[in-house]
Amino acid sequence: MTAVVTGGASGIGREVATRLRGAGHDVVVWDLSGADIICDVSDPDAVSAAMEQTVREHGVPTRIVTCVGIGVSGMLLEQPVAEWERVLAVNLTGTWLTIRAGAQAMVDAGAGGSIVAVSSISGTVADREMGAYCVSKAGVDMLVKVAAVEWGSFGIRVNAVGPGVTRTPMFVDGERLPGWVDALSERTALGGVGEATDVAGAIVGVLELPWVTGQVVHADGGLALHSPIDAYGQMQRVMARKK
Ligand code: NAD
Repeated sequence: MTAVVTGGASGIGREVATRLRGAGHDVVVWDLSGADIICDVSDPDAVSAAMEQTVREHGVPTRIVTCVGIGVSGMLLEQPVAEWERVLAVNLTGTWLTIRAGAQAMVDAGAGGSIVAVSSISGTVADREMGAYCVSKAGVDMLVKVAAVEWGSFGIRVNAVGPGVTRTPMFVDGERLPGWVDALSERTALGGVGEATDVAGAIVGVLELPWVTGQVVHADGGLALHSPIDAYGQMQRVMARKK
């Protein structure tokens, strides 16, 4: 079975590609470098060409995982428009272009399939200074729901997996902030910080779930279950002060 993994040259995507290869899939990695096919997923022509090459050389992919993602920090009042547009173009439009090309190939071949778009808990939880990223991932969460509704009759399932903080090259800047990892670990129900292999396991699991479509599954160890502030503790302290 042919599988496409975008962003598969690094981090979570690389782990997904490894797992799928281990399960016997013919995996085609799309990325900006170090990939089977070099493709900027925000470029519609590049995505069409990458899908044509994939089908020609490997057959129609019936498994697609979109792992491409970029993050740029910036407050909404200050963020340059070009930065905002780039994040939306790569994370949201790039995901749409990729899954659309894949679904079209499946429909043309009369084949069903399964798609997982990698989102983020940031699609649900509002992060200060991460507006463009949060909005792009919230868009991915809705994209999979609409795609699931439109493509279900073709036998195509479409879901999203939203990682929490995960140790990958994307994570290294945060890891340098003093106390950040400890604070995150404390707020994570399962404790610690996710590894790429944890998230890849969830993605491959969701990819093969029958009768599940249009869902967003958080692979975050329970991080998003908590409010960013200790709201309950804060309320207790206010009540204690009032006594
Ligand atoms: P990563 O930086 O290790 O991998 C991302 C890959 O995407 C890289 O190989 C990069 O070259 C590729 N890429 C970037 N722009 C591209 C483009 N325009 N076209 C093609 N390829 C492009 O990051 P990661 O942590 O493995 O992230 C994978 C996914 O998980 C992303 O969608 C990210 O938003 C999401 N995510 C990551 C975390 C985390 O803490 N690491 C948390 C939540 C969500």
